[in-house]
Amino acid sequence: MSFRKISADKIYTITSSPIENGVIIIDKNGKIVSIDSIYNHDKSEIEIFDGIIVPGFINAHCHLELSHLNGVAQTGTGLIDFISQVIKNRNHSSEIIQQAIEREEKNMIDSGIVAVGDISNTTDTFAQKRKENLHYYTFVEYFDLFQEENTDKIIEQYDAVFNELSETTKNKKSKVPHANYSVSRRLFEMLCHSDLIEQKTISIHNQETPAENELFQTRKGDFIRFYERIGFDTKHIPYTNNSAIHYALEYLDKQNRNLFVHNTLTTKEDILATFDVLNADATFWATCPNANLYIENRLPNYKNFLETNAQVCIGTDSLTSNWQLNILEEMKTILKFSSYLDFETVLKWATLNGAKALGFADSLGSIQIGKTPGLVLIENMENGILTNKTTSRKII
Ligand SMILES: [Zn+2]
Repeated sequence: MSFRKISADKIYTITSSPIENGVIIIDKNGKIVSIDSIYNHDKSEIEIFDGIIVPGFINAHCHLELSHLNGVAQTGTGLIDFISQVIKNRNHSSEIIQQAIEREEKNMIDSGIVAVGDISNTTDTFAQKRKENLHYYTFVEYFDLFQEENTDKIIEQYDAVFNELSETTKNKKSKVPHANYSVSRRLFEMLCHSDLIEQKTISIHNQETPAENELFQTRKGDFIRFYERIGFDTKHIPYTNNSAIHYALEYLDKQNRNLFVHNTLTTKEDILATFDVLNADATFWATCPNANLYIENRLPNYKNFLETNAQVCIGTDSLTSNWQLNILEEMKTILKFSSYLDFETVLKWATLNGAKALGFADSLGSIQIGKTPGLVLIENMENGILTNKTTSRKII
């Protein structure tokens, strides 16, 4: 059996302190066989890289099927106008859609992403996913916009999407609610009523815009106006007199891994209330900072997550609200705007926490013996800091 020996300035395993003068030994399948001192090996056998080596990145939130829509939405319009622009622009030929999906999957792989938590409203990405170039957790997303007379039809429609994808080791899937502001009580009940054979990951868009909290706290604001504008009845929108996440907490199940996405407005109280209902170890908070800046021009207060020991992971969201699907670029944005965070903390968000959120931590997320995490080289850091010039590429 042939082995490769890989070294660089530093190796970040995630589960130990960074290693200098280390070498990672991998077998031909990319499995980590050993992590050793460089001095125990003949230098001529070692591939030495300039930069640091980290495990493959996990993109915890993406909409790969929207890849052809890059640039259709204007920046800074706020979530509701953004949604309207995306809905208006969803008609394209399947050839254009497929090309964009293939192109962006390749970009993700080249930049070091090894697994994706991917939202699907259609079957558009499934042919690409069946090639198993990446690990995917596909979230087939259900929403009825509180029109309960349509809920049965909606369920039928998305069940058909869900049934099109077969599960394998690299392709996991679950049925998920889209967001607090788009799922009726009836739909929530039907989605959450499932006999659990295995622990699943349930993703939900959460507290992305101030109007979402306002909807549940006051039953007023931009979401009510949005529903009225499109001629939809608002009578089934619940009035909980509480922040938006409390609505989802009535239905989410502590037996699952639960993945809240965006959390731009999420407070410490919201996080602690979540931990009262759900298992903190199996609760994850995906941040998509570039999408937040693109749409709403604001970021979450990450201190709320640090101070509650909440597990943060990182997503790119879709190309409708981002300039690229690249986790290193998300890390740069987080660190640029949040000086209280350090590189190692955010690297864990980008790797191990995402792998745990998607249920892939047995094989991905950290450089440990027996795992096949993929190895990523980060080049052109300056004194341990990410700069505009810093890049990442997959080497294993
Ligand atoms: Zn999203």
